Amino acid sequence: MYRIGTGYDIHKLIPGRDLIIGGVKITHEKGLLGHSDADVLIHAIIDSLLGALALSDIGTLFPDTDPKYKDADSTVLLEHVYNLVRETGYEIVNLDSNIIAQQPKMMPYIPKMKEVLCRIFDIDTDKVSVKAKTKEKLDAVGQCMAIEAHASVLLKQF
Ligand code: ZN
Repeated sequence: MYRIGTGYDIHKLIPGRDLIIGGVKITHEKGLLGHSDADVLIHAIIDSLLGALALSDIGTLFPDTDPKYKDADSTVLLEHVYNLVRETGYEIVNLDSNIIAQQPKMMPYIPKMKEVLCRIFDIDTDKVSVKAKTKEKLDAVGQCMAIEAHASVLLKQF
């Protein structure tokens, strides 16, 4: 039995916030605005996992009106969600993802992001893909006003 899920997220880039993507702190003059740490990649991955099992979405599970999730470390939220996935009897076959950012360059940070994800899921690096693209200077992402992320996951029953 297999289940497939997709996830999407976008956060606004503003001065005075840390930029955290894929659980990795990235050197940049701006960071992502959000109730939690605004880790756009982790949020897209969480939604892909919840979507695969039709378990609603990140906003329902971790409401941004709940003070408990203020500045929350999104990797902790992901651990919680993956525990739910395992409790349902599923595990990851593979995960693919895209970060869409005009700036800064994501490439130097991708190996570390994959390391973080593989540790959380306790799986080999060949099952996790993180890719990066720009928006060719088009739209809000291309104008460095936001960063977005997409994720697709395949789960199988164990
Ligand atoms: Zn988000």
